[in-house]
Amino acid sequence: EKDVDVNSEIREAEESEHIAIESIDTTSDKIKIGFSMDTLEEERWLKDRDMFKEAVEALGAEVEILAANGNDAIQILHAETLIDQGVDVLVVVPYNAESTAAIVDKARLSDIKVISYDRLVKNADVDLYISFDNEQVGEMQARAITELVPKGKYVYIGGADTDNNAHLFKKGVFNILQPFIDQGDITVVYDQWTKDWTPLNAFKNMEEALIANNYEIDAVIAANDATAGGVIEALDALGLAGEIPVAGQDAELAAVQRIVDGTQTMTVYKPIKTLTDTAAALAVELAKGELVIGDRTINNGKYEVPSILLEPIAITKKNIDTIIADGFHSKEDIYRQK
Ligand code: BGC
Repeated sequence: EKDVDVNSEIREAEESEHIAIESIDTTSDKIKIGFSMDTLEEERWLKDRDMFKEAVEALGAEVEILAANGNDAIQILHAETLIDQGVDVLVVVPYNAESTAAIVDKARLSDIKVISYDRLVKNADVDLYISFDNEQVGEMQARAITELVPKGKYVYIGGADTDNNAHLFKKGVFNILQPFIDQGDITVVYDQWTKDWTPLNAFKNMEEALIANNYEIDAVIAANDATAGGVIEALDALGLAGEIPVAGQDAELAAVQRIVDGTQTMTVYKPIKTLTDTAAALAVELAKGELVIGDRTINNGKYEVPSILLEPIAITKKNIDTIIADGFHSKEDIYRQK
């Protein structure tokens, strides 16, 4: 009984001291981070949202998260709301690489630092850009597919034209394909962007590609797993799923299951936790007024943005264990009973 009393007295003392320190130190107010997301449509963004929140809170800061559902005007409104709420740092996943520059300009007027997250905001004074090496993502896709199909008719199903990443993915793909094209071994018979990255638009594009080429296609590179899903549905409708190699990106659960089933050839896994942890740590540093330098700079049309690019990982049937070991998906989920 006595022990308990002593302990609770100590605890009370500690607690009151803690409260007192907080209430006299005006700088101990929690740092507030605003996270303005484009969309929660693809599975990965739910991980980004949850893991970013967790990482920020683990650092003792707070985060307010808003997702714009692929709407430019809403995203700008969201950013204004976060700025008005007095966030210390704004982290933005731009829907539209160009028009979100307006958000950055507004934040700067209120002395709020801005991190461009996963996707680059073009033509604006962002303080930092954190992403994966997106050109490398495209290179990994094309390398995996050209190993299987060194000659033939290729289809490229790109991402959303409005997303700077879509351009980088495509650049990476063509870095690898170009020598094959120059030798006359590979012909790209169809090459289109996919509006808003939707599986339905990718499905329609793939149908168009098949019809235009008399159903004779040898390989498909799709910019992500969502679009790869649309592509594979279009192939499936013709009994061609599993006959034609298809590349995707994101290591979405459905895509990893398709790899196990043999209808998708590969995906590119981007360890989201590394991205969220890095972004959260740097956001807090920026909020504290610390100088943050990237590992390189990337020109966004306005200036050389300090940037950090993380390494993506190519995944085929052979190394699905990498994803399981990281806890990205469970073994049970991937090898589910149908
Ligand atoms: C991201 C991809 C994602 C795509 C669609 C890109 O900017 O890098 O991981 O699949 O957007 O949301």
